[in-house]
Amino acid sequence: MTTHDLSRYARQIIFPALGEAGQRRLLDATVTLIGCGATGTLIANHLARSGVGRLRIVDRDFIELNNLQRQGLFDEQDIAEGLPKAEAARRKLSRINSQIAVEGIVADVTADNILELLAGADLAMDGSDNFETRFLLNDACIKLGLPWVYTGVIASYGMTMTIRPGETACLRCLLGQMPAPGAAPTCDTAGVLAPSVAVVASIAAGEALKLLAGFGELNSGGLLNFDLLDNSLERFEVLRRPDCPACGQRNLEFLHAETGTRTATLCGRNAVQISVHGRPAGVNLAELAVRLRQAGVAQVSVNPYLLRATLDGLELTLFPDGRAIIKGTEEEAVARTVYAKYVGM
Ligand SMILES: [Zn+2]
Repeated sequence: MTTHDLSRYARQIIFPALGEAGQRRLLDATVTLIGCGATGTLIANHLARSGVGRLRIVDRDFIELNNLQRQGLFDEQDIAEGLPKAEAARRKLSRINSQIAVEGIVADVTADNILELLAGADLAMDGSDNFETRFLLNDACIKLGLPWVYTGVIASYGMTMTIRPGETACLRCLLGQMPAPGAAPTCDTAGVLAPSVAVVASIAAGEALKLLAGFGELNSGGLLNFDLLDNSLERFEVLRRPDCPACGQRNLEFLHAETGTRTATLCGRNAVQISVHGRPAGVNLAELAVRLRQAGVAQVSVNPYLLRATLDGLELTLFPDGRAIIKGTEEEAVARTVYAKYVGM
């Protein structure tokens, strides 16, 4: 590595606790980011600018106008181009730092692919927006012995915890069971303030830098809670539970999920997601677009990352891995009907 390579990091290298040795450890590190929305974009921005050498960014969604209020890597042009978040993030981060390797993976994180997505990573970062994904990530990290940083932000408050499997409490030591559907507020029902996201994402990114470069004190074994309303920042000790189903009894039930087609209502979005698991499901989007147009579907647009069409009054967004988001209904059966009719299952 030349001096020129390190000059862009000069302001953090002169910080003694990090230094040149710490910078080289960052450049040698690989991080998988699960979810690239509000917290995810800001975490990715920090890690790319700080010179984490390899970033693998996984997200299943595309960008919508109401994302721009808080999702710091995206702009109106990305929406005009119909880009998925993972690809838009990859493009933006590659322009910010061309000396690191950024991979954008448009995929739903499932029990089938999570171990592959985490392969080779030194650390996983949680940028997801749902507990199912976090519980799966918790299981996978326990299996791999991989540290990860949990983040969650809603309304004016947010929280983060650094988890080192085998050493500290895990997410299920903290939460036990997954909240029942509809039991926990979501950003679509309770709203979310961008500065709260920024505070929590910055703390989480700071944890990543400390953990990877080896300095400072980690927030492991504790839940940090920030609330913008009164600027409170509180830390609650979280102890390992011997009866924790995940790290105590090693019953990794989310990781050992079965395969098949899964349907999930996307809470608060008036949309249903259909995803295909455990079998190959490559879709030729361009060919399907031709078929749909031939079938008389007027509104069809396609790019290498997604196909979008209005079908029976619903908006279908289809990805090459066979996954679809069907907007305009919360009825899973209605969505599955549209999918089966026009895509096939
Ligand atoms: Zn545990």
